Amino acid sequence: MTGFSEIIAKFVNSASKLKAEAIVLMVSKPNYTEMKNFTTRSLNIPFPKKDPHNALAMPIYESVAFEFDSAEDIAANFRGEFPAHTYSRTSNPTVEYFETKVRTLTGAHHVLAVSSGMSAISATMLAICKQGDNIISGKHLFGHTLALFEQSLSAYGVETRFVDTTKIDLIEPLIDQNTRAIYFETVTNPQLEIADIRKLAEIANKHGILLISDSTITPPSVFSSKSLGVHVEVMSTTKFISGGATAVGGMIIENGIYEWSQNPNCLEFSKKFGKDAFVARLRKNYYRNLGMPMTAHTANYMIAGLDILELRVERCYQNCLKLGEFFQQNLKVTRVDYPGLKDSPYYDLAVSQFGGVPGTVMTFDLSSQDECFSFMNRLKVIRRATNLNDNKSLIIHPYSTIYAEFPESERLKMGIRPGMMRLSVGIEGADDLIEDIEQALST
Ligand SMILES: *Cc1c(COP(=O)(O)O)cnc(C)c1O
Repeated sequence: MTGFSEIIAKFVNSASKLKAEAIVLMVSKPNYTEMKNFTTRSLNIPFPKKDPHNALAMPIYESVAFEFDSAEDIAANFRGEFPAHTYSRTSNPTVEYFETKVRTLTGAHHVLAVSSGMSAISATMLAICKQGDNIISGKHLFGHTLALFEQSLSAYGVETRFVDTTKIDLIEPLIDQNTRAIYFETVTNPQLEIADIRKLAEIANKHGILLISDSTITPPSVFSSKSLGVHVEVMSTTKFISGGATAVGGMIIENGIYEWSQNPNCLEFSKKFGKDAFVARLRKNYYRNLGMPMTAHTANYMIAGLDILELRVERCYQNCLKLGEFFQQNLKVTRVDYPGLKDSPYYDLAVSQFGGVPGTVMTFDLSSQDECFSFMNRLKVIRRATNLNDNKSLIIHPYSTIYAEFPESERLKMGIRPGMMRLSVGIEGADDLIEDIEQALST
């Protein structure tokens, strides 16, 4: 049956050919590498493949499997002769675009998006350690990271040596021939301490071991881990990147500045894959086999969140400064901590490492736990919740929640005081936040 559809097809083809020629003459492609601003670049990073409909937003490829044109093609793909998506546990176009964006924005060698921040941390540690190895870690850690190191990794014979990473001299004596990495959080929470990253990198490089940062609190719009010598960065994208606490996700950023033959567990891969040794081992032996992919839907949230990340961080930061000033002047507030404030002991490091924006989490103290509870119960704008870096401001009393299982003496040693509250500052108007805090403080 010849007819209408063919005629239409012919017409469409000739029309689009004309259009295509016109486009070649008229359109100059955006060159994102020349763009200085984080947001401008984020908005203009091209898709890995041209979209057949010229969609401006990356489509959500919610498809598990991808088809091949021939049996020869699929065989060639399985032999690794050409890259193509085959199955969404191993790779997916929407997820790939999120990874591409982060890689381009950070100048990293490789980025792997995963199902959560904890996946990013566990896969990384498994890929670099084996039984009998040890890592050196900051002692103030996100709770589940602490549990992973103390309970899960130790069961496989990987020991963690905890240390105060702000005291550089304590680190080197802990390193031996089985040490594989120094691990730290860029800003600890809720203690809000900052280690000197350049000095950590110096020690790591001297001993040929990895420097791994958990940069969740300081996202890529304010922190360039590569420029300070961090080899691998892990991050919970659940927090700042997801853009309003929309989805759980994580990523591993490999900066391409570590010689992988120095890690005995990566030596074989290093002979075969060179600079890609870690990524190859990570993808093949852990990410794929343990099954920790980010879904296409989640990647879609992360892509949207990344485009407005810089704006949100800046707004939260401005709010932190205004709240800091308010807290410092209020007589009921006995203490306020935020490394972005000039009188913080970590202010200089906050400036030299994070451009003065050391995340947007702050703590402040009232005289007792009871005072904190009644204050929190009177809040109307600020929400009582445990997450960080939502668009909404979130408050929690760490002593009675996150750290409740520790004995009192342990909590105090960790800097968790009964009168302390943690505030993750959101993007509301500063006036509304201050008014809310003012009314909740005044009884
Ligand atoms: C939340 C968080 C994690 C864990 O991330 P998930 O996405 O919840 O798995 C790890 N590190 C830090 C610093 C975090 O705040």
